[in-house]
Amino acid sequence: MLILGDIPEYKEGIIVAAKGKVTFNEDICKGCGLCTTKCPVNIMTLDTDRINKKGYHPATVTDMDKCIGCANCAMMCPDCVITVEREMV
Ligand code: SF4
Ligand code: SF4
Repeated sequence: MLILGDIPEYKEGIIVAAKGKVTFNEDICKGCGLCTTKCPVNIMTLDTDRINKKGYHPATVTDMDKCIGCANCAMMCPDCVITVEREMV
């Protein structure tokens, strides 16, 4: 897990006023889907149109503009595939 950027503000468990950018070390993703289970804006998914070097459908983000940079996805990943860059707005 790697989180870059400012400390977010929380309100009732939800981060407010932050934008996020998520990147993946895609070829070490094992397609377990854990990162897709805790995204508060439901933009994490497995890309069933692609297969990585390990032979799995890799994790991806469907709409990066909706990412709030909470880093839940990165914290869930057991293999440190995900990097979140966070910017307060
Ligand atoms: S950083 Fe948060 S909002 Fe962005 S994709 Fe990951 S879980 Fe979803
Ligand atoms: S939790 Fe990590 S290894 Fe599992 S699908 Fe998501 S990015 Fe891939």
